[in-house]
Amino acid sequence: MIFDVDVIVVGAGPAGLLVAGDLARAGVSCALLERRAERSGLSRAFTVHARTLEQLDARGAADELVALGTPVRELRLFAGAALDLSRLPSRFPYVLVTPQFQTERVLEERARRVGAEVQYGTEVTALTQRPDGVEVKVRQDGGPDRVMRAGYVVGADGMHGTVRQALGMPFPGKAVVRSVMLSEVQLAQRPREVLTVDSTGGAFAIIAPFGDGWYRVIAWDRRNQPPDDAPISLDEVGEVTRQVFGSDYGMGGARWMSRFHSEERQVPRYRDGRVLLAGDAAHVHSPAGGQGMNTGIQDAANLGWKLAAAAAGWAPDGLLDTYHSERHPVGRQVLRSSGALLRMLTLPPALVTARNLLASAATRIPFAARRLAGAISEVSISYPTPPGAHPLAGKRVADLPLADGRRLYEALRGGRFLLVASPGALPSDAASGYGDRVEAAPLARASDIVALVRPDAYIAWAAPGDEVTAPQIRGSLERWCGSPAQPAAQAADQQVPPPRRSSATDRRGRRAGQSAPPHSGD
Ligand SMILES: Cc1cc2nc3c(=O)[nH]c(=O)nc-3n(C[C@H](O)[C@H](O)[C@H](O)COP(=O)(O)OP(=O)(O)OC[C@H]3O[C@@H](n4cnc5c(N)ncnc54)[C@H](O)[C@@H]3O)c2cc1C
Repeated sequence: MIFDVDVIVVGAGPAGLLVAGDLARAGVSCALLERRAERSGLSRAFTVHARTLEQLDARGAADELVALGTPVRELRLFAGAALDLSRLPSRFPYVLVTPQFQTERVLEERARRVGAEVQYGTEVTALTQRPDGVEVKVRQDGGPDRVMRAGYVVGADGMHGTVRQALGMPFPGKAVVRSVMLSEVQLAQRPREVLTVDSTGGAFAIIAPFGDGWYRVIAWDRRNQPPDDAPISLDEVGEVTRQVFGSDYGMGGARWMSRFHSEERQVPRYRDGRVLLAGDAAHVHSPAGGQGMNTGIQDAANLGWKLAAAAAGWAPDGLLDTYHSERHPVGRQVLRSSGALLRMLTLPPALVTARNLLASAATRIPFAARRLAGAISEVSISYPTPPGAHPLAGKRVADLPLADGRRLYEALRGGRFLLVASPGALPSDAASGYGDRVEAAPLARASDIVALVRPDAYIAWAAPGDEVTAPQIRGSLERWCGSPAQPAAQAADQQVPPPRRSSATDRRGRRAGQSAPPHSGD
């Protein structure tokens, strides 16, 4: 099959924008197709958690988003129990409140900077997998369907995704809460707590500040459950807010109101042959905990470099399958935890006192509070490792200072693996043959560990610095980064990012003589 591009990404929401940017950064030709005529102006998700900001930092896009939002360092849960986020072991020890369109704008600008482009007004209507590639039918601006071909397709097309449906992939689950009112309102009085969640048993409400005088208020009333398309009034939202917080804080001037029901669903497989599902196309859950967009962005961060490796032909056996084995359990856990939080919000009145006591204890006991903060911020996510692996393998890497003055997350902006060790501890040829995929990055301070850090800021492999041998380091590179470049290619094997393909090559998606990516050798 002759490809138009290496990868087609369907859907320019947060997940699609991030994965397309990562593919473009790696020099992989990619078409990002979006059926909307222009960027969404909806505020939908308003919480950006610490781990997501770290992923943006590793792409040079975090500081810009932080400047647009309101950092909230303490969450108020149930009757005033306070969860302190300020001690998170992160450069971003808070949750950032900002509307989703800002996050999407920053992600789109970053994607464009590294060479990706969103094709707006372009809808995928059908998809067929072939042994050596994928064909999608595309309709542009209401014109006739045409066929595009690629080695891989990413379905990042949201909850009602065409890609998942074309695969015939089930999406089992159920509706978990109905008639939740969403609104963006002005409040004459500032609520005492910054980000507040509470419920009375009959109703729950959440208030979060956008920082510009506007607030997101989410409200639910057990006794008032009209369908999603029923009209909604500011009075209804104000009434629930008064029930839950004892005040509506002088609510007025709504700029947006909507009613929705929430579902909990997850696909059984994130990969089907040459098609990968990410974000809401793979999992949806209640908005409690604000994990939806964050989990989708982190799916994309996990997928982008693996897919780039498969498309470029150097992915070790099984690498692309680890996208499912690593991210599906995370999605399942998010379904469980957001579902549990939702059930706590909708508990009947008789159980509310017990719940409040439990929440108060959980946020006061340091170990429990650390675990809760780690789970909500997603910094505690780690991935499975084989038996005998070093305890740090699979864990998130800290933002360590490097010998050349950069932070580790700044060094990750090149999109390559980092081989980190004490200054002077790495042999000069430690990463030779891998210059397009691996950067040797000595630490600023002595460390007793040598580690290979993945492009998504998780530790692939680690070993005690005083015991590790050069063959062990080479073995870890081969296991994670494939075979080294052939000697002829090593002239270009400098510590620089991989070259991007010419636009002529991009259009064909493949250089003359370059074989198609292996079907299962990825
Ligand atoms: C009202 C509302 C409030 C929410 N509040 C929160 C919140 O507070 N916190 C939180 O974390 N999450 C929240 N969410 C969820 C959050 O918005 C999603 O988790 C997030 O947008 C998922 O990102 P995504 O990239 O996977 O998919 P989406 O953002 O849904 O993007 C999918 C894109 O694919 C495009 N598309 C679909 N089909 C096709 C096709 N056939 N061809 C081409 N393009 C296509 C769509 O137009 C869309 O742009 C909310 C959602 C809604 C609806």
